[in-house]
Amino acid sequence: MSTDWHEEALCRQVDPELFMPEVGGSAKDAKATCMSCEVRPQCLNYAVDAGERWGVWGGLGQKDLRRLIRARRAEQEAA
Ligand code: SF4
Repeated sequence: MSTDWHEEALCRQVDPELFMPEVGGSAKDAKATCMSCEVRPQCLNYAVDAGERWGVWGGLGQKDLRRLIRARRAEQEAA
């Protein structure tokens, strides 16, 4: 699984703590950063493929990311 896209990651230019908000904390600034990131699709695909369940990836917070991971796994099991 390639991570070359990370070289272009916009989150490398901001506080990494934004992408790991504490429970109940806001992920708003991290998600806004993601929306301007050129490698958002690659990041999201990586996170889903890798089963990343913590933090903000590809503009999604934990809850949405976990939902997408479950949906992707259900699709794979049905195929
Ligand atoms: S989409 Fe967000 S988390 Fe992913 S590389 Fe870009 S800024 Fe970082």
